[in-house]
Amino acid sequence: MDRNKKIVKISIQGIIVNIVLVIFKAIVGFIANSISIILDAVNNLSDALSSIITIVGMALSGKRPDKKHPYGYGRIEYFSSVIIAIIVLFAGGTSLKESIDKILNGGDATYNIASLIIIFVAIFVKYFFGSYVKREGNKLNSSSLVASGVDAIGDSILSLSTFIGALISFIWHISLEGYIGVIISIMIIKTSLEILKDTIDDMIGIRADGELTKKLRKLIKSYNGVEGVYDLTLHNYGPNNIIGTAHIEVKDKMTAREIHKLTRNIVMDVYEKLGIVLTLGIYSSNDSKYNDMKKDITKIVSKYKTVLQLHGFYVEEDKNIVSFDLIFDFEELEPVKVKDEIVKEIKKKYPKYNYIVILDKDFSD
Ligand SMILES: [Zn+2]
Repeated sequence: MDRNKKIVKISIQGIIVNIVLVIFKAIVGFIANSISIILDAVNNLSDALSSIITIVGMALSGKRPDKKHPYGYGRIEYFSSVIIAIIVLFAGGTSLKESIDKILNGGDATYNIASLIIIFVAIFVKYFFGSYVKREGNKLNSSSLVASGVDAIGDSILSLSTFIGALISFIWHISLEGYIGVIISIMIIKTSLEILKDTIDDMIGIRADGELTKKLRKLIKSYNGVEGVYDLTLHNYGPNNIIGTAHIEVKDKMTAREIHKLTRNIVMDVYEKLGIVLTLGIYSSNDSKYNDMKKDITKIVSKYKTVLQLHGFYVEEDKNIVSFDLIFDFEELEPVKVKDEIVKEIKKKYPKYNYIVILDKDFSD
Protein backbone atom coordinates (compact mmCIF):
# COMPACT_ATOMS: atom_id res chain seq x y z
CA MET A 1 0.00 0.00 0.00
CA ASP A 2 1.44 3.42 -0.82
CA ARG A 3 1.83 6.30 1.61
CA ASN A 4 -1.32 8.19 0.67
CA LYS A 5 -3.56 5.14 0.91
CA LYS A 6 -2.16 4.27 4.34
CA ILE A 7 -2.73 7.80 5.61
CA VAL A 8 -6.29 7.76 4.31
CA LYS A 9 -6.92 4.36 5.92
CA ILE A 10 -5.66 5.52 9.33
CA SER A 11 -7.66 8.72 9.05
CA ILE A 12 -10.86 6.78 8.32
CA GLN A 13 -10.21 4.62 11.40
CA GLY A 14 -9.78 7.88 13.32
CA ILE A 15 -13.13 9.19 12.13
CA ILE A 16 -14.91 5.98 13.18
CA VAL A 17 -13.25 5.79 16.61
CA ASN A 18 -13.97 9.44 17.33
CA ILE A 19 -17.59 9.39 16.21
CA VAL A 20 -18.29 6.36 18.42
CA LEU A 21 -16.68 8.24 21.32
CA VAL A 22 -18.65 11.41 20.53
CA ILE A 23 -21.95 9.48 20.66
CA PHE A 24 -21.22 7.79 23.99
CA LYS A 25 -19.79 10.86 25.66
CA ALA A 26 -22.56 13.14 24.44
CA ILE A 27 -25.18 10.76 25.87
CA VAL A 28 -23.34 10.47 29.19
CA GLY A 29 -22.65 14.20 29.27
CA PHE A 30 -26.27 15.23 28.73
CA ILE A 31 -27.68 12.65 31.15
CA ALA A 32 -25.19 13.63 33.85
CA ASN A 33 -25.52 17.32 33.00
CA SER A 34 -21.71 17.48 32.92
CA ILE A 35 -20.08 20.30 30.98
CA SER A 36 -16.64 18.70 31.08
CA ILE A 37 -17.88 15.48 29.48
CA ILE A 38 -19.80 17.38 26.82
CA LEU A 39 -16.63 19.37 26.09
CA ASP A 40 -14.74 16.11 25.85
CA ALA A 41 -17.26 15.01 23.23
CA VAL A 42 -16.87 18.28 21.33
CA ASN A 43 -13.14 17.74 21.39
CA ASN A 44 -13.55 14.26 19.89
CA LEU A 45 -15.82 15.74 17.25
CA SER A 46 -13.09 18.19 16.25
CA ASP A 47 -10.69 15.24 16.03
CA ALA A 48 -13.04 13.47 13.62
CA LEU A 49 -13.24 16.67 11.62
CA SER A 50 -9.46 16.93 11.43
CA SER A 51 -9.26 13.36 10.14
CA ILE A 52 -11.71 14.31 7.39
CA ILE A 53 -9.57 17.31 6.49
CA THR A 54 -6.46 15.11 6.43
CA ILE A 55 -8.16 12.85 3.90
CA VAL A 56 -9.30 15.74 1.72
CA GLY A 57 -5.79 17.22 1.93
CA MET A 58 -4.25 13.90 0.90
CA ALA A 59 -6.60 13.54 -2.05
CA LEU A 60 -5.76 17.05 -3.27
CA SER A 61 -2.03 16.86 -2.59
CA GLY A 62 -1.72 13.53 -4.39
CA LYS A 63 -2.81 15.10 -7.68
CA ARG A 64 -0.43 14.54 -10.58
CA PRO A 65 1.91 17.43 -11.42
CA ASP A 66 0.86 19.44 -14.47
CA LYS A 67 2.28 22.17 -16.66
CA LYS A 68 1.21 24.96 -14.34
CA HIS A 69 2.24 23.09 -11.14
CA PRO A 70 5.29 21.07 -12.21
CA TYR A 71 6.35 20.55 -8.58
CA GLY A 72 3.07 18.79 -7.76
CA TYR A 73 0.49 19.64 -5.12
CA GLY A 74 2.28 18.33 -2.04
CA ARG A 75 2.22 21.67 -0.21
CA ILE A 76 -1.58 21.41 0.11
CA GLU A 77 -0.84 19.18 3.11
CA TYR A 78 0.41 22.27 4.94
CA PHE A 79 -2.90 24.02 4.36
CA SER A 80 -4.86 21.10 5.77
CA SER A 81 -2.64 21.15 8.86
CA VAL A 82 -3.33 24.87 9.32
CA ILE A 83 -7.09 24.35 8.97
CA ILE A 84 -6.98 21.49 11.51
CA ALA A 85 -5.02 23.65 13.94
CA ILE A 86 -7.52 26.49 13.61
CA ILE A 87 -10.46 24.12 14.26
CA VAL A 88 -8.71 22.75 17.35
CA LEU A 89 -7.93 26.32 18.47
CA PHE A 90 -11.60 27.24 18.08
CA ALA A 91 -12.70 24.15 20.05
CA GLY A 92 -10.25 25.13 22.82
CA GLY A 93 -11.48 28.73 22.91
CA THR A 94 -15.13 27.67 23.11
CA SER A 95 -14.52 25.20 25.91
CA LEU A 96 -12.50 27.80 27.84
CA LYS A 97 -15.45 30.18 27.70
CA GLU A 98 -17.95 27.46 28.74
CA SER A 99 -15.74 26.36 31.62
CA ILE A 100 -15.37 29.88 32.97
CA ASP A 101 -19.15 30.28 32.76
CA LYS A 102 -19.50 27.08 34.75
CA ILE A 103 -17.16 28.36 37.49
CA LEU A 104 -19.02 31.67 37.71
CA ASN A 105 -22.57 30.32 37.50
CA GLY A 106 -22.23 26.86 39.07
CA GLY A 107 -24.65 23.99 38.38
CA ASP A 108 -24.34 20.45 39.63
CA ALA A 109 -23.45 17.39 37.65
CA THR A 110 -24.82 14.02 38.72
CA TYR A 111 -22.97 10.87 37.72
CA ASN A 112 -23.86 7.22 37.94
CA ILE A 113 -21.62 4.16 37.78
CA ALA A 114 -22.44 3.43 34.13
CA SER A 115 -21.34 6.88 32.98
CA LEU A 116 -18.10 6.58 34.97
CA ILE A 117 -17.32 3.26 33.28
CA ILE A 118 -17.96 4.71 29.82
CA ILE A 119 -15.63 7.66 30.45
CA PHE A 120 -13.00 5.29 31.80
CA VAL A 121 -13.09 2.99 28.75
CA ALA A 122 -12.97 6.00 26.42
CA ILE A 123 -9.70 7.10 28.00
CA PHE A 124 -8.01 3.82 27.07
CA VAL A 125 -9.47 3.73 23.56
CA LYS A 126 -8.21 7.23 22.90
CA TYR A 127 -4.77 6.62 24.38
CA PHE A 128 -3.99 3.45 22.45
CA PHE A 129 -5.46 4.75 19.24
CA GLY A 130 -3.47 7.99 19.58
CA SER A 131 -0.19 6.09 20.11
CA TYR A 132 -0.93 3.99 17.04
CA VAL A 133 -1.66 7.04 14.85
CA LYS A 134 1.46 8.83 16.06
CA ARG A 135 3.66 5.79 15.37
CA GLU A 136 2.26 5.35 11.86
CA GLY A 137 2.49 9.09 11.20
CA ASN A 138 6.20 9.05 12.01
CA LYS A 139 6.72 6.04 9.77
CA LEU A 140 4.89 7.74 6.91
CA ASN A 141 6.42 11.19 7.53
CA SER A 142 2.95 12.75 7.77
CA SER A 143 2.79 15.81 10.02
CA SER A 144 -1.03 15.76 9.93
CA LEU A 145 -1.11 12.20 11.30
CA VAL A 146 1.53 12.88 13.95
CA ALA A 147 -0.38 15.99 14.99
CA SER A 148 -3.65 14.12 15.36
CA GLY A 149 -1.91 11.26 17.21
CA VAL A 150 -0.31 13.64 19.69
CA ASP A 151 -3.62 15.43 20.03
CA ALA A 152 -5.39 12.13 20.80
CA ILE A 153 -2.85 11.13 23.46
CA GLY A 154 -3.24 14.57 25.04
CA ASP A 155 -7.00 14.17 24.92
CA SER A 156 -6.83 10.86 26.75
CA ILE A 157 -4.88 12.49 29.57
CA LEU A 158 -7.41 15.31 29.70
CA SER A 159 -10.24 12.76 29.73
CA LEU A 160 -8.51 11.18 32.68
CA SER A 161 -8.81 14.47 34.54
CA THR A 162 -12.48 14.63 33.57
CA PHE A 163 -12.84 11.13 34.96
CA ILE A 164 -11.13 12.03 38.22
CA GLY A 165 -13.33 15.11 38.52
CA ALA A 166 -16.42 12.99 37.93
CA LEU A 167 -15.24 10.44 40.47
CA ILE A 168 -14.65 13.12 43.11
CA SER A 169 -18.06 14.60 42.48
CA PHE A 170 -19.61 11.10 42.60
CA ILE A 171 -18.02 10.24 45.95
CA TRP A 172 -17.79 13.57 47.77
CA HIS A 173 -20.28 15.70 45.82
CA ILE A 174 -17.72 18.46 45.22
CA SER A 175 -17.85 20.05 41.75
CA LEU A 176 -14.44 20.62 40.11
CA GLU A 177 -15.92 20.63 36.62
CA GLY A 178 -15.28 24.23 35.69
CA TYR A 179 -11.68 24.15 36.87
CA ILE A 180 -10.92 20.92 35.07
CA GLY A 181 -12.54 22.39 31.97
CA VAL A 182 -10.25 25.44 32.13
CA ILE A 183 -7.16 23.22 32.32
CA ILE A 184 -8.39 21.07 29.43
CA SER A 185 -9.11 24.14 27.32
CA ILE A 186 -5.73 25.71 27.92
CA MET A 187 -3.98 22.50 26.90
CA ILE A 188 -6.07 22.23 23.75
CA ILE A 189 -5.24 25.82 22.84
CA LYS A 190 -1.56 25.21 23.48
CA THR A 191 -1.49 22.14 21.20
CA SER A 192 -3.24 23.97 18.40
CA LEU A 193 -0.84 26.91 18.56
CA GLU A 194 2.13 24.55 18.38
CA ILE A 195 0.77 22.79 15.29
CA LEU A 196 0.05 26.16 13.73
CA LYS A 197 3.56 27.43 14.39
CA ASP A 198 5.28 24.31 13.03
CA THR A 199 3.18 24.29 9.89
CA ILE A 200 3.66 27.98 9.19
CA ASP A 201 7.41 27.46 9.64
CA ASP A 202 7.24 24.75 6.99
CA MET A 203 5.42 27.12 4.67
CA ILE A 204 7.91 29.95 5.18
CA GLY A 205 10.82 27.57 4.59
CA ILE A 206 13.08 26.34 7.38
CA ARG A 207 16.61 25.03 7.65
CA ALA A 208 16.75 21.50 6.24
CA ASP A 209 16.74 18.64 8.73
CA GLY A 210 20.34 18.20 9.94
CA GLU A 211 20.13 14.40 9.95
CA LEU A 212 19.10 14.39 6.31
CA THR A 213 21.77 16.84 5.13
CA LYS A 214 24.42 14.87 7.02
CA LYS A 215 23.34 11.66 5.30
CA LEU A 216 23.26 13.38 1.92
CA ARG A 217 26.73 14.92 2.29
CA LYS A 218 28.15 11.58 3.38
CA LEU A 219 26.64 9.80 0.40
CA ILE A 220 28.01 12.34 -2.10
CA LYS A 221 31.44 12.36 -0.45
CA SER A 222 31.63 8.57 -0.65
CA TYR A 223 32.21 8.85 -4.41
CA ASN A 224 35.73 8.58 -5.72
CA GLY A 225 36.83 11.90 -7.15
CA VAL A 226 34.64 14.08 -4.91
CA GLU A 227 36.96 16.20 -2.80
CA GLY A 228 34.29 18.19 -1.00
CA VAL A 229 30.56 18.93 -0.86
CA TYR A 230 29.39 22.52 -0.36
CA ASP A 231 26.42 24.88 -0.61
CA LEU A 232 23.84 22.19 -0.02
CA THR A 233 20.28 23.51 -0.35
CA LEU A 234 17.02 21.57 -0.02
CA HIS A 235 13.52 22.73 -0.91
CA ASN A 236 10.38 20.77 -0.40
CA TYR A 237 7.07 20.72 -2.17
CA GLY A 238 5.23 18.62 0.40
CA PRO A 239 6.79 16.29 2.95
CA ASN A 240 7.95 13.67 0.47
CA ASN A 241 8.99 15.76 -2.49
CA ILE A 242 12.43 17.30 -2.02
CA ILE A 243 14.56 19.12 -4.58
CA GLY A 244 18.14 20.10 -3.85
CA THR A 245 21.37 21.58 -5.16
CA ALA A 246 24.99 21.18 -4.11
CA HIS A 247 28.50 22.01 -5.29
CA ILE A 248 31.11 19.30 -5.47
CA GLU A 249 34.81 19.89 -5.73
CA VAL A 250 36.85 17.81 -8.21
CA LYS A 251 40.44 17.93 -9.49
CA ASP A 252 40.89 20.39 -12.36
CA LYS A 253 42.45 17.66 -14.49
CA MET A 254 39.15 15.78 -14.67
CA THR A 255 37.55 15.76 -18.10
CA ALA A 256 33.95 16.65 -18.89
CA ARG A 257 33.42 13.00 -19.71
CA GLU A 258 34.60 11.90 -16.27
CA ILE A 259 32.60 14.59 -14.49
CA HIS A 260 29.53 13.66 -16.50
CA LYS A 261 29.78 10.07 -15.36
CA LEU A 262 30.50 10.98 -11.74
CA THR A 263 27.65 13.47 -11.37
CA ARG A 264 25.14 11.18 -13.11
CA ASN A 265 25.98 8.34 -10.75
CA ILE A 266 25.65 10.59 -7.71
CA VAL A 267 22.36 12.10 -8.85
CA MET A 268 20.84 8.70 -9.55
CA ASP A 269 22.09 7.23 -6.28
CA VAL A 270 20.78 10.17 -4.22
CA TYR A 271 17.36 9.84 -5.81
CA GLU A 272 17.20 6.10 -5.21
CA LYS A 273 18.42 6.18 -1.61
CA LEU A 274 16.96 9.46 -0.32
CA GLY A 275 14.28 10.38 -2.85
CA ILE A 276 15.90 13.79 -3.43
CA VAL A 277 16.08 15.30 -6.93
CA LEU A 278 19.58 16.79 -6.87
CA THR A 279 21.37 19.20 -9.20
CA LEU A 280 25.16 19.49 -8.90
CA GLY A 281 27.53 22.37 -9.65
CA ILE A 282 31.28 21.93 -10.00
CA TYR A 283 34.25 23.54 -8.25
CA SER A 284 37.69 22.57 -9.43
CA SER A 285 40.70 22.24 -7.17
CA ASN A 286 44.41 22.70 -7.86
CA ASP A 287 47.04 20.07 -7.38
CA SER A 288 49.13 20.20 -4.23
CA LYS A 289 51.24 23.10 -5.53
CA TYR A 290 48.90 25.67 -3.96
CA ASN A 291 48.26 23.84 -0.70
CA ASP A 292 50.43 26.18 1.36
CA MET A 293 48.83 29.27 -0.11
CA LYS A 294 45.37 27.86 0.60
CA LYS A 295 46.37 27.08 4.18
CA ASP A 296 47.74 30.61 4.61
CA ILE A 297 44.61 32.26 3.29
CA THR A 298 42.37 29.96 5.35
CA LYS A 299 44.34 31.04 8.40
CA ILE A 300 43.85 34.72 7.63
CA VAL A 301 40.12 34.17 7.08
CA SER A 302 39.75 32.16 10.28
CA LYS A 303 40.64 35.26 12.30
CA TYR A 304 37.29 36.73 11.27
CA LYS A 305 34.91 35.08 13.70
CA THR A 306 31.73 35.56 11.69
CA VAL A 307 33.11 33.58 8.75
CA LEU A 308 31.84 30.02 9.08
CA GLN A 309 33.52 28.47 6.07
CA LEU A 310 35.86 29.06 3.15
CA HIS A 311 35.44 26.73 0.20
CA GLY A 312 35.83 26.43 -3.54
CA PHE A 313 39.40 27.73 -3.38
CA TYR A 314 40.98 27.77 -6.82
CA VAL A 315 43.98 29.47 -8.41
CA GLU A 316 43.84 30.20 -12.13
CA GLU A 317 47.54 30.07 -12.77
CA ASP A 318 47.63 31.62 -16.24
CA LYS A 319 45.50 34.61 -15.22
CA ASN A 320 46.67 35.12 -11.63
CA ILE A 321 43.13 34.90 -10.36
CA VAL A 322 42.24 33.39 -7.00
CA SER A 323 38.62 32.56 -6.33
CA PHE A 324 36.85 31.22 -3.27
CA ASP A 325 33.52 31.41 -1.46
CA LEU A 326 32.85 32.57 2.08
CA ILE A 327 29.91 31.64 4.26
CA PHE A 328 29.06 34.19 6.91
CA ASP A 329 27.06 33.67 10.06
CA PHE A 330 23.58 35.21 9.67
CA GLU A 331 24.52 37.39 12.66
CA GLU A 332 27.05 39.27 10.54
CA LEU A 333 25.32 42.44 9.40
CA GLU A 334 27.99 43.72 7.02
CA PRO A 335 29.45 40.69 5.25
CA VAL A 336 30.50 42.67 2.17
CA LYS A 337 32.54 45.09 4.26
CA VAL A 338 34.24 42.23 6.11
CA LYS A 339 34.91 40.47 2.83
CA ASP A 340 36.67 43.56 1.45
CA GLU A 341 38.79 43.75 4.58
CA ILE A 342 39.75 40.09 4.23
CA VAL A 343 40.72 40.54 0.58
CA LYS A 344 42.81 43.58 1.50
CA GLU A 345 44.68 41.56 4.09
CA ILE A 346 45.27 38.64 1.74
CA LYS A 347 46.49 41.01 -0.96
CA LYS A 348 49.24 42.26 1.33
CA LYS A 349 50.63 38.75 1.44
CA TYR A 350 49.90 37.70 -2.15
CA PRO A 351 49.89 40.95 -4.13
CA LYS A 352 50.23 39.54 -7.61
CA TYR A 353 46.74 37.98 -7.67
CA ASN A 354 43.27 39.29 -8.28
CA TYR A 355 40.57 37.93 -6.00
CA ILE A 356 37.06 36.84 -6.83
CA VAL A 357 35.14 36.14 -3.64
CA ILE A 358 31.52 35.01 -3.60
CA LEU A 359 29.38 35.25 -0.47
CA ASP A 360 27.33 32.12 0.11
CA LYS A 361 24.56 31.66 2.64
CA ASP A 362 24.61 29.27 5.56
CA PHE A 363 21.76 27.19 4.13
CA SER A 364 22.32 23.83 5.79
CA ASP A 365 24.38 21.91 8.34
ZN1 LIG B 1 30.03 28.10 -2.65
